[in-house]
Amino acid sequence: MSVLNTNNLSKIYGNKRGIQYEALKQFQLTVKRGEFLGIMGPSGSGKTTLLNLLSTIDKPTFGKIEINGKNVTSLPKNKLAEFRRNEIGFIFQDYNLLDTLTIGENILLPLTLQGRKVKEMERRLVIVTKQLGIDTLINKRTFEVSGGQMQRAAIARAIVHEPTIIFADEPTGNLDSKSSATVMESMSTLQQRNNTTTVMVTHDPYAASFCERVIFIKDGKLYNEIHRGDNRQTFFQDILNVQSLLGGNNDDFQTIRP
Ligand code: ADP
Ligand code: MG
Repeated sequence: MSVLNTNNLSKIYGNKRGIQYEALKQFQLTVKRGEFLGIMGPSGSGKTTLLNLLSTIDKPTFGKIEINGKNVTSLPKNKLAEFRRNEIGFIFQDYNLLDTLTIGENILLPLTLQGRKVKEMERRLVIVTKQLGIDTLINKRTFEVSGGQMQRAAIARAIVHEPTIIFADEPTGNLDSKSSATVMESMSTLQQRNNTTTVMVTHDPYAASFCERVIFIKDGKLYNEIHRGDNRQTFFQDILNVQSLLGGNNDDFQTIRP
């Protein structure tokens, strides 16, 4: 069963001088319920554009996006806000936690916005923080915990309201390799245990190797798609191979290329 479907998704950016740039070209994508999908591609290939459209942060120029059977491209502003609040979880590179709140209060924000009962919020908080191994940090502030712990708190916040789908933009982008490993193992375990659907943009082949499927974008179009078998190490190698075919196996390297 598919949770997300796009049809001929296009995004054209224009500037003041009327010059237009087609960042995404008639893109088709289907994400199955419970799938862990990775999106990779060189710098400027359209990854962020695609994620912003899928997560309803931005609107496509043409085409349609359906999430959970709902055409989100045609939802009016207030309905869209409600849809986002209930059905979507977000994970960002820089965590986006509020410094004025405790870790626990941060995690509960989506439920607070939904106006849920205190008892239920407390119950959910225990469940998600235990799942992510951060249950002892609930009363701490953001400056008292590590980057990896902040990102796991952000993941807890993304799943606490049991959304239909989670969108993650470079979730390991600010983390050292040890914290990246913990965060990716957490995401992978959650996906297997709770059957959460996750779409993650990353330029980190290690992070991508935890996905079940990775799609590669080039110039706003699908370039390749590979599936993981039983072995994450082999998949990691496969990812590196496609990256080298794509030209340049490092996103950062491509940005500094003349
Ligand atoms: P990626 O995330 O893969 O690095 P983006 O989706 O950010 O790529 O960008 C894809 C292309 O669209 C790039 O050429 C970029 O310069 C262009 N682009 C992105 N956002 C805008 C914008 N707001 N206005 C104009 N062009 C943009
Ligand atoms: Mg980007």
